[in-house]
Parts: sequence; C-alpha cells; structure tokens
Amino acid sequence: MKLNYHVHDRYSSDARGTAEEVVRRAAELGFEEICLTNHVEVLTPEGEWEIDFVEARERFERLAREIAAVRSAFPHLRILLGAELEYRPEWIESLERLTASIEFDFLLGSVHVVDGHNISGGAAAVEYFKGKDLSEAYGRYFAVLEEMVKWGGFDVVAHFDLIKRFGAKVYGPYAAEDFASQIEAILQRMARRGIGLEVNTSGVVQPPGEPYPGAPILSMAKKAGINTITIGTDSHVPERLDQGWEAGCRLLLEAGWTHLATFDRRILRMVPIRATAS
Ligand SMILES: [Zn+2]
Ligand SMILES: [Zn+2]
Repeated sequence: MKLNYHVHDRYSSDARGTAEEVVRRAAELGFEEICLTNHVEVLTPEGEWEIDFVEARERFERLAREIAAVRSAFPHLRILLGAELEYRPEWIESLERLTASIEFDFLLGSVHVVDGHNISGGAAAVEYFKGKDLSEAYGRYFAVLEEMVKWGGFDVVAHFDLIKRFGAKVYGPYAAEDFASQIEAILQRMARRGIGLEVNTSGVVQPPGEPYPGAPILSMAKKAGINTITIGTDSHVPERLDQGWEAGCRLLLEAGWTHLATFDRRILRMVPIRATAS
C-alpha cells in the first residue's frame, strides 16, 4: 500500500488546495490511503496562532463533509480525517474537547513553538536561535517534546526532530547521538504509552536533506520498542503531495522496519512496508 499520513489542505492557515484537489493529486500519484491532518490553530490577522474551539470544530466538520462528498469519485483511495495538534500546555483543554467531539481517524502531536518562538521558520525562528548554541537550542526543543509525550493526547509524534529544519541552516548537520539520553528517554516513554513515530519526508526537500527524523533516531526507536510508525509528506500544496516520499520509504527499510501503521477511527492496523515501497 502507498500511504501518506500527513497532508494539509486549505483548512490549514499555511496551506492551499481543496480536499478534492488534494485527493485528485493523490489518486494520480497512486496513493491508496491519505490522511488530511490540518492544524487545529489558525493564524490571526495580527500574526498570532490561536485556537478557537468552536471555529475549529466547525472547520473539521466542513472538511469531513467534503471528504464524504468526494469519496465515491475515488473508489481506490481511502481518505481519512486527521488533525495535527500543536502542543502548548494552555491549549490542552481545547484540544481534548475537540478530539472528543469529532470522529477523527488519526491524530498527530507536534511542537512548532518553544518558549514562545516558532522554531520551524520565519523571523520568530531567528529569535529562538539567537544567542543559543546547538546543545541549548536542540536540548530545549527535545524537553518540550518530552512534555508533549507526557501529555499524550494523540496517536503519533510528528516530525520528531523538526528543530533541525532551521537548526541545519544555523549550525549545519547535527548528530542525534549527542542527544541520545534525552531522545531515548522520550522514545521509551512513547513505546510504553503506545505512541507512534512519524517519518516526515518534507525534510528531504528542506535544508536538512533528510526526513524528520533521520536514520539514527529511527534505529533508536526500534531499539526502544516502538512498533507504530507512519509516513507523511507534510505537503501544504497539492503539487508537493509526494515530496520525499520514496526517500522516506527507503530509509525505513534500511533502518529495519517491516510494517507501517494505518488508522481507522484511531484504531491501529499494521501493513507490510514492502508493499508500500513498491
Ligand atoms: Zn508540523
Ligand atoms: Zn504538518
């Protein structure tokens, strides 16, 4: 099976393309299953990211209706409703109300904001890295990621080392082994709680030139006993729906993974990865 479990459409403030446009592109590319994982939060005219529970619920309900309407035109493609939840302690209550009120198939948990700074791009990222060495910048990010895993109100951790997206520009490549004790503690906690890991292939076409995470963390995850792994391209426009996808599959196979996770109403099922890469 050819799966993509991280896709945005126009219902994310930073993306474009209707569900129908995304689905048509997915069918052209031969995907058999895609999950739309829009952000819950929205960008306000003042440039702030905010969560409005009522607005978010209505938006996901609208998308669910759009998905239902296009399904019959694409009988060979399974289209799932997911969400990408941004971890901020003050948002947990809204996030839990939302995920209890919509029948999601799948939930990603993400950290894009550390100590009030968006770490993944733009002017705010410059601020975050200013005056920090690599060890402080990455260590603090992983600490917030661990807090998110302690909360655990989602199925899979998205882009585990997203900090390298901008960090690669500031410091060059990083060695995950330098953060092994911190990373292994997070992975072990994920394994105990049944939280999965994502291979996010957008990094292949971004400055890191490899998925989030890369080979060392994928190996550590296997050793930690994580079984649930998804693949997603994190595309924000239909034209980039398969960005890095093949490289991500290759990396997974090389790291010794044999199966990928699929979800249906948040119930997990595993499918052989060999078929996915074919
Ligand atoms: Zn993200
Ligand atoms: Zn995303």
